[in-house]
Amino acid sequence: MFDIDLILEILEKEVSGYAVPIVDLIAVQTRDPFKVLVTTILSARTKDETTAGAAARLFKKVKDGKSLARLAEEEIVKLIYPVGFYKNKARYLTKLPEALEKFGGAVPDDIDSLLTLPGVGRKTANLVVCIAFAKPAICVDTHVHRIMNIWGYVHTKTPLQTEMALRKKLPKKHWLRVNSILVAFGQGTCRPVGPHCDQCVIRKFCPQLGVTPRKSPKSRAGARAAGIKKFISWNVNGIRAIEKKGFADIVREMDADIIALQETKAQPEQLSENLINLDGYKSFWHSARKKGYSGVAVYARREPLQVYCGIDHQDIDDEGRILTLEFSDYFLVNAYFPNAGRGLKRMAYKLDFNRRFLEYVNNLAQKKSVVICGDFNVAHKSIDLKNPGNNVKNPGFTPEERAWMDEFVKAGYIDTFRKFHSGPDHYTWWSYRFNARAKNIGWRIDYFCVDKKSDERVIDAAILKEIMGSDHCPVSLDFKS
Ligand code: SF4
Repeated sequence: MFDIDLILEILEKEVSGYAVPIVDLIAVQTRDPFKVLVTTILSARTKDETTAGAAARLFKKVKDGKSLARLAEEEIVKLIYPVGFYKNKARYLTKLPEALEKFGGAVPDDIDSLLTLPGVGRKTANLVVCIAFAKPAICVDTHVHRIMNIWGYVHTKTPLQTEMALRKKLPKKHWLRVNSILVAFGQGTCRPVGPHCDQCVIRKFCPQLGVTPRKSPKSRAGARAAGIKKFISWNVNGIRAIEKKGFADIVREMDADIIALQETKAQPEQLSENLINLDGYKSFWHSARKKGYSGVAVYARREPLQVYCGIDHQDIDDEGRILTLEFSDYFLVNAYFPNAGRGLKRMAYKLDFNRRFLEYVNNLAQKKSVVICGDFNVAHKSIDLKNPGNNVKNPGFTPEERAWMDEFVKAGYIDTFRKFHSGPDHYTWWSYRFNARAKNIGWRIDYFCVDKKSDERVIDAAILKEIMGSDHCPVSLDFKS
């Protein structure tokens, strides 16, 4: 029996020593519903430190709807940058004063009215009602949704379902505080990536449903001492976008030896110093000639012997799709395979890429072990996507693309994930549309593969589906070096 009263009591004490979430902080400091509302809008998909800086700059010039109405949209953009989706948020804030007029210029205190304001969804509305007006509402953000499911207190697929389930089940006395407690706890201990179960005050009560606990630094050090390296591959769908979603923290948590990224969509000169010199890593970049398109990168703890950008074929190398790092006992090949495109317009290009890629890795495999990772842009078998029947004519699941994957496997390359997990419903990419990720309607198109002779060096392979920030999640390989 899961005693929610006891758990929340323990956690309330526990998080009193953690950093206070920014929206709570603004509420305590200002007691002003307008500032709470604006800060909540700014905070969506943004780290608290970034939100705090943006809110401080904005509130130097703005104290209410009237003063906000005097600022031009471009000025708001400058003040709130670099919060996530700053252009959209600036647009919402520009429209906010007029929308507040319906309520006499004041922030309304009920959810339905709040939902009529620009940029305000259920989560924001609930949070404002709770924090600014201390009225009962349950704000379910990703932490509340995730942790309540880890505890088995609810069994839901979306934050909205969680909110509705909690309205029926959670005693009202917890409604106001549950969000603040679980946001702080979710940012501090029960993190989305590698929760710190070893230090968790409620570990003995927690069923840890669907959780992969963080390996303690000791066990990672032990694995390293035993020569086991951890590799990560992740299509980040824009390195500059994901930087604003806590990329550096995620990397720190993953604690990998190599992190291979695809679809970086940037030239090195467009990147912040932090991204180029990520703590403890050397970075290597191969970008597309066309700005904002394609591109691959690798962060490595150890200096490689050699780095090869591309495969010496201009059509492929211009798109920044293959980056190889050579180490003493293996090659790491990071690849972003082309998409066959709408109407399969790029199928010929993709099949040519595939053919040359296989030739390339076959040559490398004659010299030493080859570890290949990346977004292959193809689901190999029916089990690798939710709706195979509907997708046989769509890019990523056409007979031609799958036939190449058959050829690749026949040439001796091993899909390492399938060595350990033979079942369905394991995906690495979900459309941003139709709430596909929450419903797990996805495709497994990101892989770690090794050549045949390296099979016994593969210790483990996994999909890190709890890591957010892109429409793909990372995949990992533990490899004996
Ligand atoms: S034991 Fe682990 S999964 Fe459970 S609440 Fe604590 S940190 Fe989260």
